Amino acid sequence: MTKMQRIVLASRPDGQPSPENFRLESSYLSEAGPGEMQVRTIWMSLDPYMRGRMDDAKSYADPVPIDGTMEAGCVAEVMTSNNDRFAPGDIVVGPVGWASHGVTDGVGYRKVDASIAPISTALGVLGMPGMTAWVGLNDIGQAKAGETIVVSAATGAVGSLVGQLAKAKNMRVIGVAGGAEKCAYAVEELGYDVCLDHRAGDVKELRAQMAEAAPKGVDVYYENVGGKTLEAVLPLMNTFGRIPVCGMIAWYSGQGVAEAMRLPAAWRAILTKRLRVQGFIIFDHYDRVGAFASEVAPMVASGRIRYRESVTEGLENAPEAFMNLLKGGNFGKQLVRVGDDP
Ligand code: NDP
Repeated sequence: MTKMQRIVLASRPDGQPSPENFRLESSYLSEAGPGEMQVRTIWMSLDPYMRGRMDDAKSYADPVPIDGTMEAGCVAEVMTSNNDRFAPGDIVVGPVGWASHGVTDGVGYRKVDASIAPISTALGVLGMPGMTAWVGLNDIGQAKAGETIVVSAATGAVGSLVGQLAKAKNMRVIGVAGGAEKCAYAVEELGYDVCLDHRAGDVKELRAQMAEAAPKGVDVYYENVGGKTLEAVLPLMNTFGRIPVCGMIAWYSGQGVAEAMRLPAAWRAILTKRLRVQGFIIFDHYDRVGAFASEVAPMVASGRIRYRESVTEGLENAPEAFMNLLKGGNFGKQLVRVGDDP
C-alpha cells in the first residue's frame, strides 16, 4: 500500500489565512478502479485563486468544503493506469489538489511534453497562468503595437509573461511590482521599459511616477491587483482604453476594501473615457489553448521568454508558502516540490 498525504481546509479564514486554517492528513492511496489511474505529485501549483475557494461565498467556482482537500493543479507521474489515454510513466498535468498522490478518472488531465521546457512550466508560463496572460493581453485587452500598457504584479506568474509579450508587440510597457529587487528584475531581465515600486509611496506618488513613465497616457491596464495601483492608473487611462480585469489580489482577504470604495469616481472615468473594462476567467477561454501554445511554447523553448520560479520544498510547507504568496513573498511562479522530478 502506498502512503499518501494531503492538506485539507480545517477552518475558513477571517482576513489573511493562518496556519490553523490548514491540516495535514496521512492515509493510504486507494486502488485505481475501471478507467482510473493512480498518480504521484511532482510539482504543485500555488495560485491566488485558492484564497477565494477558502471562503464560503458564491463565486464562479464552489468553495472547498471544510475537511475537503485544498484544490491545486499539479504535474504528476502516472503510477498505474486502467485509463486508455494514459500509461504508467506518463507525465501529466491536472487537478490532483494539495496531495502527494491521487486516484483519478483522468478528466481535466493532459500529458506534458517534456521536450519543450522543464515539466514545472506546465503550471506556469506554459500552463494556466501563461494562458491567462496571453488571453488577457490579446483577446480581452486588444493590445496593439505602439500603445502603452501598465501591468500590475509585473514579475509574477501572469504579469511576467504579459510584460514580455507586450514588449514583443512593440508596446511601451510599464510594470508595477513590490520592492526594488522585483522592479530591477522587471527592467533588466524581462525587458520592461520602466517598473514602479507600489510599496515605495502612496497613491499620489505612484500616479505621478506613472504619468511620467507614460507621457502619452495608458491604453491598456492589465489588472492583477486592484488596490492602490488601480487607483493610480484610472485617471491616466486614454479614451477608448481597455482594462482586462484578471485579478484583484490586494482585496482577496478583505484588507483595504472599505477605504477603496470610491465608486463614483471610477464609474465616471469609465464613462467619460469610454473605457472597456472586462473581467475574464480563464476556463471560459480554453478554446484558445492551441493558438496560445503555438505562439508562446517556441518563445519559451528558444529562451526568448524568461520565467522565474519560487520553489518551496515539501507538501507540509505549502500553507506557509501560500500565505507568503498572498503577501507578495513569492518571486515568480510559486511552486511546491512534492516528489522527485524524473
Ligand atoms: P503572482 O505570481 O503575481 O503572485 C501574486 C503577486 O501579487 C505577489 O507576488 C505580489 O506581487 C502581488 N500582490 C500581493 N498582494 C498585493 C497587494 N496588496 N497589492 C499589490 N500587489 C500585491 O500570482 P499570479 O500571477 O498567479 O496571479 C496574478 C493575478 O492574476 C492574481 O490576482 C490572480 O488571482 C489572477 N489570476 C486570474 C486568473 C483568471 O482566470 N482571471 C487566472 C490566474 C490568475 P508584488 O510583490 O509585485 O506586489
